[in-house]
Amino acid sequence: MPAPGEFDLIARIRARCPERDDVRLGIGDDSALLQPPMGELLAITSDTLNSGVHFPAMTDAEAVGHKALAVNLSDLAAMGARPLWCTLALCLPGSDADWLDAFLDGFLALAQAHGIALVGGDTTQGPLSICVTAIGSVRDGQALRRDGARPGDDVWLTGTVGDAAAGLLLARNPDTLGQPDDVAFLRERLDRPTPRVAAGIALRGLASAAIDVSDGVLADLGHVLDASGLGAEVQLERVPTSPALAACVPEPGRRVLQLSGGDDYELCFTAAPAQRGQVVATLEALDLAVARIGTCTEATGMRVIDADGQPWQPPGTGYRHFDGPNG
Ligand code: ADP
Ligand code: MG
Repeated sequence: MPAPGEFDLIARIRARCPERDDVRLGIGDDSALLQPPMGELLAITSDTLNSGVHFPAMTDAEAVGHKALAVNLSDLAAMGARPLWCTLALCLPGSDADWLDAFLDGFLALAQAHGIALVGGDTTQGPLSICVTAIGSVRDGQALRRDGARPGDDVWLTGTVGDAAAGLLLARNPDTLGQPDDVAFLRERLDRPTPRVAAGIALRGLASAAIDVSDGVLADLGHVLDASGLGAEVQLERVPTSPALAACVPEPGRRVLQLSGGDDYELCFTAAPAQRGQVVATLEALDLAVARIGTCTEATGMRVIDADGQPWQPPGTGYRHFDGPNG
């Protein structure tokens, strides 16, 4: 059988996209035609995954499909937006129907779980790269923006951090010691991140500002503080650690992964101290752990304080493209 061409691949994708009332016209025309929810603002975000940069080149196709959508859902979550639709620009090194089917297994399972419809895209040939645009909606005034934090607000973090960075370390150094279950957990956190969509929606009206942790807690909290014109004090021992991370990565390297490692896709948000009980109850209802890791300060700059009350100096504050030795 000859390798499928561009339109065969698109037909394969289209066949797996169910119809929906708010998608008046989906895959197949020059543009999709969509019916936005009455009176809501659209939240639109794009994220690209490049092979070898955003996922190890040998990552299985199903995980790549999951992650390509997950990182975009995470950006909608960080705005408190409800996912609606997405597009998928696929750049593939070759026409491989099996790879595409496995990729779609991961992508569409997550799409279905979050009620987001795939409505279009582009299919081209070149080095493996996936660009997803996700569209969500939120009522005017309810979005979780980066610029809403106020002095004295608590700084919160969902889930645990450092897991994905440890997963990447383990993927690159397979000889590193660790129990198989712990290693598998950390690798799963890297390959199949869980976007905190329900948490983002539940935090509308509670959080004063929010961001998703894609580049590292310090870097991403720094964006919130910059946008809000504030600083913060972060208590190192309050930063949440998974048992697998504690078992696999010793101090002090672990703290570096936790504060500066990216790809966890947890939510970092601020809220007034009066909301503490409500924040805990809201996330408990979603079965999601939440930790209060610090406080926003009028003085700018971030201070990380260790268990002895001493300042902790981070060696780096996050991943930036074009900064490394390889550009
Ligand atoms: P055009 O040449 O008009 O840009 P294409 O031939 O690129 O159209 O795409 C045909 C249809 O298939 C369009 O509706 C487009 O949105 C959709 N499409 C193409 N690639 C993908 C993809 N990877 N995922 C989802 N839809 C796709
Ligand atoms: Mg096109």
